[in-house]
Amino acid sequence: MEVQKNNKNKEKTPARKDLLRAIPQVDEVLHWFSRETAPLFLIKQSIREELEALRQDILAGKKVGKLDLGKKKLLDRIGARLQAKQGPNFKRVINATGVVIHTNLGRSILPDSAGKALVEAGTRYSNLEFDLATGKRGSRYSLVEQLLCDLTGAEAALVVNNNAAAVLLVLDTLARDREVIVSRGQLVEIGGSFRVPDVMAKSGARLVEVGATNRTHLKDYEAAITDATALLLKVHASNFKMVGFTKEVAAEELVQLAARYKLLVMEDLGSGCLLDMSAYGIRREPTVQETVRAGVDVVTFSGDKLLGGPQAGLIVGKRDIIECIKKNQLNRALRIDKFTLAALESVLRLYYDHETVVSRIPTLAMLAASPRVMEQRARRLARKVIKLLAGRCAVAVRTVGSRVGGGALPEEDIESRCVELAPLDRTVNELERSLRLNQVPVIGRIEDDRYLLDMRTVLDDEVPLIATVLARVFGVDL
Ligand SMILES: *Cc1c(COP(=O)(O)O)cnc(C)c1O
Repeated sequence: MEVQKNNKNKEKTPARKDLLRAIPQVDEVLHWFSRETAPLFLIKQSIREELEALRQDILAGKKVGKLDLGKKKLLDRIGARLQAKQGPNFKRVINATGVVIHTNLGRSILPDSAGKALVEAGTRYSNLEFDLATGKRGSRYSLVEQLLCDLTGAEAALVVNNNAAAVLLVLDTLARDREVIVSRGQLVEIGGSFRVPDVMAKSGARLVEVGATNRTHLKDYEAAITDATALLLKVHASNFKMVGFTKEVAAEELVQLAARYKLLVMEDLGSGCLLDMSAYGIRREPTVQETVRAGVDVVTFSGDKLLGGPQAGLIVGKRDIIECIKKNQLNRALRIDKFTLAALESVLRLYYDHETVVSRIPTLAMLAASPRVMEQRARRLARKVIKLLAGRCAVAVRTVGSRVGGGALPEEDIESRCVELAPLDRTVNELERSLRLNQVPVIGRIEDDRYLLDMRTVLDDEVPLIATVLARVFGVDL
């Protein structure tokens, strides 16, 4: 039987060399396209790529028939390539992962008000470096410095491209060729290859590790102090958690120790929250204000993690130190652009109003959203698709745990609701793929052979859009 079957197949499948010969010439295919649809070079590129892909498939013995080389099929496939090339590479996606500060999906999303400020900064002239009061040259940092001081209680502030740059710049300014003492429990690696020891090496500061992995005492820091010591550095263990027999030294104690030896204290807070979110069931993190109040000389944190603003590295601290950092030549290379400034100012201003800030900053609003709100959103989506997908996919609402993300509060689940999809006509991996390849990609997650759309990170106006996408993917007419 087996042999016969193979023979039969052989008769049906045209010989490899016949197929190769049947691949049309680029110029021939070019005539099938109207020149107006796309730039000529893109049409040619798409044709070449498709014909080459077919050639490779044939050579590899993949299933290619005469039909695949016909005008209709070829036009379809080359058309799809052309369309993909003409669409944007960088596009909006729907985040249904439940990870609020999702590093791969753009971390924090901005409030609409910040979006407006961003567009205006880009499409109109501005006072970026022009002091309107004096008519003279101004400093771009002055546009946000006072806000940062008001919100954190610091004497001075500076903003650079991201927190990694902030740490590098501070170390380069304060500790180049000198020693920096860090607890072994805080030599963290953040995603995207930020490692405390490596950044330290780049800055030219010498790392002095103290303590044990799980426990570091004040006396460990003290014993390591020499004439070459410049800084005591504390790093927030953002993305991991130590449990059990552990000990860290509080910022206040480090500050007292440093004062005795005339040293400086720096803290890299990582996420840098300005707000205690424990009222919303999110574990308390040290806020920037508390760290400043503890007397830490210079504090660095990200703009696009818990702060909920644009990508930026914020540096706040004592005035004389910040002035020194501002003068570092490296600062010029790490400076922020006008888009960041516009968005950052806009977001920081929202923090002035304690009553409304959580509802206005998407990152905070998503973290604060109650299970009841998640439930309503999930039910709304489920109602829309349950009948549409009947017979094709089972739909249910389920309780899940969302994550903060962005290296903040690891191991911490926030109770959420998801719409759970169990496709009947395809595998869950196929469903994942078609949602991901949709024009507006929908990104959820797979758990126990089910596809989950976590409602925590889905915006209300995205619910009908997801329903439409699901109908399309399952081939249902709306
Ligand atoms: C996230 C993080 C960084 C890096 O910040 P970016 O803004 O991503 O450059 C540095 N240190 C800590 C502790 C962090 O959590």
